[in-house]
Amino acid sequence: MRMPLIAGNWKMNTTLSEAVALVKEMRPGLERIEGVEKIICPPFISLAAVKGLIEGSSIKLGAQNMYFEEKGAYTGEISPPMLAELCEFVIVGHSERRHYFKETGEIIDKKVKAALKAGLKPILCIGETLEENEAGKTEEVLIKQLGASSSRAYYQGGLVLAYEPVWAIGTGRAASGQQANDTIGFIRRQVSAQYGKEVAREVHILYGGSVTVGNIAEFINQPEIDGALVGGASIKADEFLGIVKQTSEIKQAR
Ligand code: PEP
Repeated sequence: MRMPLIAGNWKMNTTLSEAVALVKEMRPGLERIEGVEKIICPPFISLAAVKGLIEGSSIKLGAQNMYFEEKGAYTGEISPPMLAELCEFVIVGHSERRHYFKETGEIIDKKVKAALKAGLKPILCIGETLEENEAGKTEEVLIKQLGASSSRAYYQGGLVLAYEPVWAIGTGRAASGQQANDTIGFIRRQVSAQYGKEVAREVHILYGGSVTVGNIAEFINQPEIDGALVGGASIKADEFLGIVKQTSEIKQAR
């Protein structure tokens, strides 16, 4: 059985001192919850401090982005080896990166490859816009995004997929559990068709988009959904703890 996974994407929120305070608030409750992989992804500048604060606990650390080159004249960028000293995971291809920073499938694939080479597990985000959804193009978009970053070796290296419909991110308008389950089932079938049942059975596929403590159960109760990538609710200690706690209870009751 796949261990459920909840990842908190703090986005461009929290100064260093705020990040430290938030982790201090979350750690005691979070580390007590078993049966769930718990990952927090603060901004770059807080990674080192947060790493120190979660040492010895079951909480894992992720970054929100990275550049694909290992080093060199790329002012302002952060490389995979720099992150690999600090964290285990890195979010790649988030819709905010695709839209605001014009990251293409090609760039995202380079990032996935570079992350794996450095020993980081990428959390690769895919999802359709509202326009694409309304035009009935969801499956077409997902096939294209998946195809741009696809290799059996990626899955063997620990790639995690996150289905995040763009229309659900930060809007308060989450997909329904059924909708998310159906689409994630579709994604898993694509992985199965390309790389076989074993790979499809093992890959974690998360749902992301306006997940809260009030709706997490709806997603976690679905058989295809292995957890959530949580944005806004991940920087509220009570909410995030509630989300992780419910995930643990629901999955352990199965
Ligand atoms: C996200 O940033 O990946 C996300 C899903 O955000 P939110 O939970 O705020 O919709």
